[in-house]
Amino acid sequence: DKTGTITQNKLSIIACQPLTGYTAEQLLDAAGLAADQEHPDAIDQAVLNYAAEIKHPLDFSKRQQFTPFDFATKRTEAVITTTDHRQMRVIKGAVPTILALYAKQHPADTAPASAAIQQLATANAKKGYRSLAVASVVDSQMALVGVLAIADPPRADSASMLARLKNLGIKPMMITGDSVPIARDVAEQVGIGTKILPAKALKAGTAADKIQLIHESDGFANVFPDDKYQIVKLLQEDGHLVGMTGDGVNDAPALKQAELGTAVSSASDVAKASASIILTHPGLHDIIAAITTSRQTYQRMLTWVINKITKVIEIIILFTLGFFWLKVSLVSLLGMSLLVFANDFATMSIATDNVQSTAGPNQWRLGPLTAASGVLGLWFALVDLVIVWLGLNQFHLNLPVLQTAVLIGLVFNSQFRLLIVRERSHFWTSWPSRTLLAVNLFTIVIFALLALTGWLMPAISSPLLVTILLLTLAATIVLDFLKVAVFRWLKIA
Ligand SMILES: [Mg+2]
Repeated sequence: DKTGTITQNKLSIIACQPLTGYTAEQLLDAAGLAADQEHPDAIDQAVLNYAAEIKHPLDFSKRQQFTPFDFATKRTEAVITTTDHRQMRVIKGAVPTILALYAKQHPADTAPASAAIQQLATANAKKGYRSLAVASVVDSQMALVGVLAIADPPRADSASMLARLKNLGIKPMMITGDSVPIARDVAEQVGIGTKILPAKALKAGTAADKIQLIHESDGFANVFPDDKYQIVKLLQEDGHLVGMTGDGVNDAPALKQAELGTAVSSASDVAKASASIILTHPGLHDIIAAITTSRQTYQRMLTWVINKITKVIEIIILFTLGFFWLKVSLVSLLGMSLLVFANDFATMSIATDNVQSTAGPNQWRLGPLTAASGVLGLWFALVDLVIVWLGLNQFHLNLPVLQTAVLIGLVFNSQFRLLIVRERSHFWTSWPSRTLLAVNLFTIVIFALLALTGWLMPAISSPLLVTILLLTLAATIVLDFLKVAVFRWLKIA
């Protein structure tokens, strides 16, 4: 949405355009004294703000009389005393109003000044500015003083926010009820682009034609609330996730339909009620925070899912093969309970992990995700089977001690696994959170002590424990390279 979202929804004077024979100060003086300084409307406020901004004092003590805006006359008027103590009437209003008044008073000789005002107004309209005409009357002689160009300028942070959105792989578009020139001017100023089409371009053709038109454009002007909704809907039907930002009642249907409906802080209650996010600070920068935070959350969820699938596949393969091979359960019942404990603490600490949001949008692709996790699970199951084989053939263990060895192997695997599945690239690319690392080390130490002392489980020898530790550690480091290759191949990021 443009007005009130990308722009401030506040009129500002963009330029003072006096006719020949007048200065910008005289023009501003006339316009300012013809403004209501006590109960200013939007245009009066824009004039007063501009005078304050350029530190041009308006001397209201020179004003004898003021006639506020009236829909019948469509202008404001004041009578002021000039520096040479003459009475002067100053008038401001829309260009057609002032020109009609001027033509009435000067039927003979209106052409040059009128044409000059008209020219300025036309040039302003092309740039997307509205024009306010100012005239003065001295001794019943009316004169045109000049034009003030008015616009609703973009918020200070709009351009930088939109640039950052583009860097996050999001295509910004502008949809507005305003005219095409105004829309194009604002869109260009904030870096959206200049390909703004009138909404009626979307009235004809098939859905595919409309989608193509939307993709080729940077936005639409002259839209009705229903058009905003339709554009969001069309993009969604084409498989896009759509964010919509707005402030007005007219934005509400589109805000509700979009996946990320965002109401700015100054939005109307209806817009806020329809949005999924309400910004509490003025401006748009919080949208960036919402996007990067949700992408970080996605990364933690992705780690959890990969870890979960990998773990399940490891256990299923190990227990199934182990059962058919040795006809026994490779982990005791108590061991299984302890394993759940060991895994849960580490899994919960994923929520605290340091993560990087991706440069582009995220999407759940369960097929590739399961396939990649399957490869990792298979590898861990192989490591577990090697431990079983070593336990039987090198360390000549009986079943209860073998169960301890397998349990310790599973615990070490699950702790090391978390350190590699939390990073889509090599595990050394980023540090895990302190909590995750602490829980990880704590679990390894506790289970090593349990296994060595024989508390809650039959003890194993320290050479066997060291063998399991080194084997699982080495296997995890080797797996990290396989992981990077598989993740790249299946595009898991
Ligand atoms: Mg708006």
